[in-house]
Amino acid sequence: MGLVTYHSLEEAVQASFGESVHIDKSSQLVMSDINLAKTLYLTNGDTVFLKLNTPENAGFFDAEEQGLWAIAQTNTIRTPKLFCKGIDTQKSLSFLMMEKIDSGQLKEDTWKVMGREFAAMHLADTTAFSCGKAYGFLQDNYIGATRQINTPNDSWVEFFRTCRLEPQFKMAEGTLGSDGIRLSLKLLDRLDTWLTEPSKPSLLHGDMWGGNHLVDQDGKVVLIDPAVYVGHAEADIAMTQMFSPMPRDFYQGYYEVLPKQEGYEDRRDLYNLYHYLNHFNLFGGHYLVSAMRIVMHFAG
Ligand code: ADP
Repeated sequence: MGLVTYHSLEEAVQASFGESVHIDKSSQLVMSDINLAKTLYLTNGDTVFLKLNTPENAGFFDAEEQGLWAIAQTNTIRTPKLFCKGIDTQKSLSFLMMEKIDSGQLKEDTWKVMGREFAAMHLADTTAFSCGKAYGFLQDNYIGATRQINTPNDSWVEFFRTCRLEPQFKMAEGTLGSDGIRLSLKLLDRLDTWLTEPSKPSLLHGDMWGGNHLVDQDGKVVLIDPAVYVGHAEADIAMTQMFSPMPRDFYQGYYEVLPKQEGYEDRRDLYNLYHYLNHFNLFGGHYLVSAMRIVMHFAG
């Protein structure tokens, strides 16, 4: 889906839904972490979810579109259908228009089914996603507002070193101090003491905190707002446990399909170090303490 220039959102709606369809009304704008969002109610009865940003930030929507496309390609877990992406010249805004997911009730098996589907996503073929190498992605994308480097690499450990931890340590360099820098270099140097290559590469959602999935009206989970790349499945599971873990049934369903590898708990914090550093680089504050605790544990 290319970035198309429209005179207005109305024109974009007509290009996607047909000349006879118009915007009947729209909800209030809501501000999320990075983008603005609103719901459009169309005259044909459809509702669409619209994410908005400045034209200069249209790259967020390119990345989001590619990420949702990649997950959808695996045919394993639901993502919102995408309608169009473009620039509204009248309002000078970039936008991504997608299916609005109406929230529904949890079912008894919602989390177990999600776990199984998430594992199936991790087991899906990844050859279309990493430019002929095992790990990485077709393009760089974003983790929050931070650019996420996805340069393809045939080694997971090397990819995690050069595309995940190293750029985050560099961004935090000014605050780390000489001891922090020394320890971070030691950790990077010895990464293969703790991390191992996976038995197979997996397409990861990449940003699995609790706000990035919705439950639809059939009680099925829908993944949103990904930061996809091909990597080690454990990195996605680790992030689900970084703040408040998913319900127990999710892990049961997941591990039924993709059994836990020995030593995962020892590696978990190392995967999440990437996100702690990123949170520090975006928001500052206590995230550096959490990050340096992990660095000390492994390299201290
Ligand atoms: P950002 O990219 O700014 O972080 P998100 O994609 O996480 O924004 O969306 C912010 C919030 O909007 C989500 O937490 C969710 O509640 C809601 N949302 C996102 N996508 C949809 C959708 N397709 N349908 C309904 N609600 C959505």
